[in-house]
Amino acid sequence: MEEPLHPSEGSKRLVVAIDDDPIILRAVEHTLEADGFICRTARDGTNGLQLIRDLRPDLVLLDVVLVGEDGFGICSEIRKTWSKEDLPVVMLTSMEDLASIQRAYQVGASDFLTKPLHWKHLPYRLRHVLRANEAFAALQERTRTLNSLFAAHPDPIFTLTAKGVVTLVHSGIQGESNTSRPPLGQIDELLPDHLAVLAMQHCQEALANPAEMRCLEFADPFQEEPRFWEGRFIACAEDKVLVMLRDITERKVFEQRIRHMAYHDALTGLWNRYALSSTLERLFIDLARSETSPYPKAAALLYLDLDNFKRINDTLGHALGDDLLKEVAARISGVLRPSDLLARADNSDGESVARIGGDEFCLILSQITTPTDAARVATRILDVLRQPISLEGHQLVVTPSIGIALMPQDGRDADTVLKNADRAMYAAKEAGRNRFQFFDPSMSSRLQERFRLEEGMRHGLAHGAFHVHFQPQIDARSGEILGMEALLRWDDPEMGSIAPAKFIPVAEETGLIVELGEYVFREALRFTRSLQEEGLPPIRVAVNLSSVQMLDPQLMERLELCIAFSGADPRCLEVEVTESVLLESSDRAIATLQRMKELGITLALDDFGTGYSSLSYLHQYPFDILKIDQSFVQSLTNASQSRSLATAIIAMGQSLGMELIAEGVEHADQAKFLLDRGCHRAQGFLYGHPMSPGDFRTFYWNRMGKRDPEQE
Ligand code: C2E
Ligand code: CA
Ligand code: CA
Repeated sequence: MEEPLHPSEGSKRLVVAIDDDPIILRAVEHTLEADGFICRTARDGTNGLQLIRDLRPDLVLLDVVLVGEDGFGICSEIRKTWSKEDLPVVMLTSMEDLASIQRAYQVGASDFLTKPLHWKHLPYRLRHVLRANEAFAALQERTRTLNSLFAAHPDPIFTLTAKGVVTLVHSGIQGESNTSRPPLGQIDELLPDHLAVLAMQHCQEALANPAEMRCLEFADPFQEEPRFWEGRFIACAEDKVLVMLRDITERKVFEQRIRHMAYHDALTGLWNRYALSSTLERLFIDLARSETSPYPKAAALLYLDLDNFKRINDTLGHALGDDLLKEVAARISGVLRPSDLLARADNSDGESVARIGGDEFCLILSQITTPTDAARVATRILDVLRQPISLEGHQLVVTPSIGIALMPQDGRDADTVLKNADRAMYAAKEAGRNRFQFFDPSMSSRLQERFRLEEGMRHGLAHGAFHVHFQPQIDARSGEILGMEALLRWDDPEMGSIAPAKFIPVAEETGLIVELGEYVFREALRFTRSLQEEGLPPIRVAVNLSSVQMLDPQLMERLELCIAFSGADPRCLEVEVTESVLLESSDRAIATLQRMKELGITLALDDFGTGYSSLSYLHQYPFDILKIDQSFVQSLTNASQSRSLATAIIAMGQSLGMELIAEGVEHADQAKFLLDRGCHRAQGFLYGHPMSPGDFRTFYWNRMGKRDPEQE
């Protein structure tokens, strides 16, 4: 089968044959055309050249001996216009004429054939010349392309031999490329040891797998400021690799920035939750490994939540809140000594402080000897945060509650230890905030208890397990009943009676307080109205309002409906709020309180003296009554400090024109002390415990000097 000359061409090749012997010419024409060539002939050089110019053949077959100018002259003539690659010329010489053969090559012949011609071989020989010529042309083209590529390559290229000889083949300066430079030297003399070893490793690997490229990224050992290179190793001979260098500084810097972003909190620059968890996971491996050693390692996780951050954020704005968080972050980081830190292998920043939520921070103490070490760090944090932070003219104090979990005993994985430290943090909050607390396993059972309470409350609400009791408020001078406070009671069929101090916080957390609170309002209003209807003098009923209810946008709507349904006079209602209500969101709180006031409701500030209130801002709120907290009242008997405090509170309330009531009065001498200072209103076991509605009615009638008509 006929093999095409060129894979892409099946078309016939054109040969111009020049010879003065017409018989040979005819034989050549016949042989070639029979073999698939097209052949044109000329009897002398002049005609031959004309044919070549007109037809642009693929090959010229040229006899040395011609009439007129000989074949050598014609060949030189051809070469003036076409190169060997453009147009191969095969010369016909007589056998054994070595001088002619030599001459033929000198004038630019591609090959020669000797006469007499071997006709069968002729087409094969010509096809071979054509093919060789095309292959050569293609090779030349490729070399040219490669050379331009080299010359245009923006980065340096070296060769490196298996023996470690380095040669620069291209400097990276455009157009400057030279494959025949002298070697630069041995690699271990040119590069620092560690890099030379790495480079030789890559060289060997590239030589072992010639089809594959090996990459080596390294920091520039000769530059001050960080610069990074990538070396690509690829075999270019049996014992030699090309090493192409590329400046990857920009990419590296970018990578580092992305890694930083993935691991850090944008606001504070501290670690984020992700970095914290992965660091903890690594720490656990480390701890587990040391467990069998004579000195097993221990670590601690501190979980820190800011107590009153939400209030600051809401009242002073998020921008200021952000600044505050930054300052807090800086202070917390500042208390850690280098030995407290867990340095990460791939990150020499070394922080082990993370911000894992709005105002939640975590610290890892990767090596502690005793729990006291963790307590010491927690104390240092409490100390640094005690100093007010001044921001835009405000002096702000943010106190933290800190939970501490020890590793490995309080958790052997990141989730568990975080959860337990979080529980300990909640316990610190419950214990009064601004303190630290170690985790102990009973905290998890406390959590289960919480769930039980929540379930029980939902059930209790639907099945009438809640009641309201009433505690009288008395004029200590006359014993007259001035009012009563409604206090919620819960009798669970299984758990028995549960104290409000236990269930109210859970109700607040779950939002159940909204429904419970509405129930108390309804019962309280109904009860005070029923007392009046029985003919007793109207008294106010005080209802406790939780700060969570205060945040309920429908609060006023609910309240007005309760009043309307009960048919009671709103002037019979007193609402007690604690200072925490005022801290939540002051503008809205003031507006809501104002609205209550417009309805005729009396407003009392409960547990006064225990909160954060600076007495100076009291005048901003429309309170009518200050309830002096029972803790003051109960310590009146002994501590002289609380005596003077109570005295000051009473004096201040009076100067603000507010009514005062003391709660938790249990003993006559307490009552006397208060009376002496002008505080006449009192509530406490001395006068009466909280009572069921029925008991209260009897109590009231008795006080009025009459028998309870219902008991007649
Ligand atoms: P509170 O508002 O300060 O209520 C006064 C608490 O002091 C009541 O406890 C009352 O029984 C108790 N108490 C009264 N006199 C004395 C006394 O002389 N000595 C002593 N040691 N205690 C006295 P209670 O009923 O256990 O309520 C505890 C807290 O639960 C209340 O404190 C209040 O904050 C909350 N609470 C109770 N009922 C409700 C309610 O309906 N709604 C809301 N939001 N909170 C409620
Ligand atoms: Ca109260
Ligand atoms: Ca109180």
